[in-house]
Amino acid sequence: MAATSSSILLSNGTVLIHDEEDHLTPVKADILIAGNKIVKIAPSVAPSSDTIHIDCTGKILSPGFVDTHHHMWQTQLKGRHADDLLLDYMVKGNFVYSMFSPEDVFWGELGGCMESIDAGTTMVVDHAHMNYSAEHSSSALSATVASGIRSYFCYSPVPQAPVASLAPYSFGTNTADWAAEQLADLAANQPFGNGRVRLGVAFDAYYLPKDIVVSLFEKARGLGVKLFTSHYVRGPLGAQSFVDILDSYGLLKDDILLSHASQAKPEDAVKLVAKHAHVSSTPDTELQMAVGTPVCFRPDLHKISSLGIDCHSNNSADLLSQMRLALQSARGTHNQRFIAEGKLPRTVNATAEQAFNLATIMGARAVGMEAEIGSLAVGKLADIVIFDALSPGMICATEHDPVAAIVLHASVRDIEAVIVDGRIQKHKGKLVPVEVENKIMEWPQVAAKLLDSRQRLQDKLEAADMDSAKKAVIELFRIDERIIVDNP
Ligand SMILES: [Zn+2]
Repeated sequence: MAATSSSILLSNGTVLIHDEEDHLTPVKADILIAGNKIVKIAPSVAPSSDTIHIDCTGKILSPGFVDTHHHMWQTQLKGRHADDLLLDYMVKGNFVYSMFSPEDVFWGELGGCMESIDAGTTMVVDHAHMNYSAEHSSSALSATVASGIRSYFCYSPVPQAPVASLAPYSFGTNTADWAAEQLADLAANQPFGNGRVRLGVAFDAYYLPKDIVVSLFEKARGLGVKLFTSHYVRGPLGAQSFVDILDSYGLLKDDILLSHASQAKPEDAVKLVAKHAHVSSTPDTELQMAVGTPVCFRPDLHKISSLGIDCHSNNSADLLSQMRLALQSARGTHNQRFIAEGKLPRTVNATAEQAFNLATIMGARAVGMEAEIGSLAVGKLADIVIFDALSPGMICATEHDPVAAIVLHASVRDIEAVIVDGRIQKHKGKLVPVEVENKIMEWPQVAAKLLDSRQRLQDKLEAADMDSAKKAVIELFRIDERIIVDNP
């Protein structure tokens, strides 16, 4: 099967169509793709002679998933955070970025993008905070383009502190001069990958003086950047409202996407909704790392919410898991309030359709791309996931409710094909090869590169003094150590 063709016909599938109120209707139909767009959805479409024809009998055709918060570079760090809290992750994960060479970043990023495509994610917001040098970001961007995914590559114009010494562990400083230059250069040359990869900004440096923050946002907006993403967690880890800061600086508008927004104040929600800004909940990392319960079903934040993975070093990169975790944890929290009063709720809280929308059309809105992606409609970009509805997991569920089949019964193994921008990136359950420096690479070859890179990083990491590392991170973030207490 060739990965590209001028047209692709997906015939006789169950196509999930959104209406104007975001309700989904399953329709038996054919989808015709020409170039990178959906050009026809109809009961029967005749293929022309050069059309790739995929028989979708027994399949569900879903919009590609939109992941609105993810650090795509972290593949080599998988498996080591299973029992970590945020501070442990910061030490063993986040700050390891300065031990990555540009080559390590390339393979990490490529692995992350390929895992996401395999899992049906066609669009990702990459909070690319591994910006240790200009080469690190260039490598990550090249890997993103090579992978075939659609991305908002959110560049970090204020690089994180680099690790200066591993034992005892200490941080140095990273000047931002080269980063400002690279941001301007990337902005002038975007988009990349035939329009698939756009430039955004990842910004977490709200501790900087107002004039610097304002000038950075205004310059980037002037350069044509259309998405700004920031981590925002209130509670023990942060008393400040970044929403208040953005609003008081005159910067809060519809191009702002805040990841987590855990413990956001009701006043934050009012401001975010009024300015058409958005939030991204990442249930796995939020629930595990004591960040807070996901806000995506909070009544005051739901309609501006979306879903993200955050760290595929910590959890799998499939939004199927995040939809389910978000839905069931919201229901559990809601139900418990009734149970605690000796009562029962009359109806369930939150629906499978809402969870599905968080990962599709609402994700598209969060990145300002609802006219282009997030649903299956004529004129939209061809980002499509094909599920095998006859699999052991999905059988019989599809006949009753295809949305429930995806949200509650599907797993990555049921994703038979993934199309991004009109190109087939996964076919018959397998990722298609990628092209790296004019060489075609199958997944096992990428996997071998990742294993080599992981070992190199592991050798470096073993020289780190982890006890002093945790202290250094606590100092760097000015965390009052008295808030960290033992389990009862
Ligand atoms: Zn994050």
